[in-house]
Amino acid sequence: MSQEKQLPHDHHENELAFNFLCANIDHIEDFRIVSDIFKQLGDPTRLRIFWLLCHCEECVQNIAAMMNMSSPAISHHLRPLKASGLITSRREGKEVYYRTADSQQTKLLHIMMEQVMKINCQICPK
Ligand SMILES: [Zn+2]
Repeated sequence: MSQEKQLPHDHHENELAFNFLCANIDHIEDFRIVSDIFKQLGDPTRLRIFWLLCHCEECVQNIAAMMNMSSPAISHHLRPLKASGLITSRREGKEVYYRTADSQQTKLLHIMMEQVMKINCQICPK
């Protein structure tokens, strides 16, 4: 599936890799989806909430208490995380519980964060 791209310099040796790269590098919308995920997580507070919710389901008040923050501040961060599909919520009576969405993407983000932070997760099976 050649994209018929001509490069200024002809020093690629692997035609298969070149064609693969050319076929995908223009899928700007796909890259935007990944960019949006990183944008949602491009804030230490959101990362802390996301990481916390990888391990437990919690209400806003408990998340706020664990993070020494106000409930409105936590809600402010939960909204975009939920809108992006990274976390989900469940209502039970008057209480709303949040947790990380169950997906391959969130599992990888969880593992990636703990690798970068050198945290040996004692909760999740590897
Ligand atoms: Zn973990």
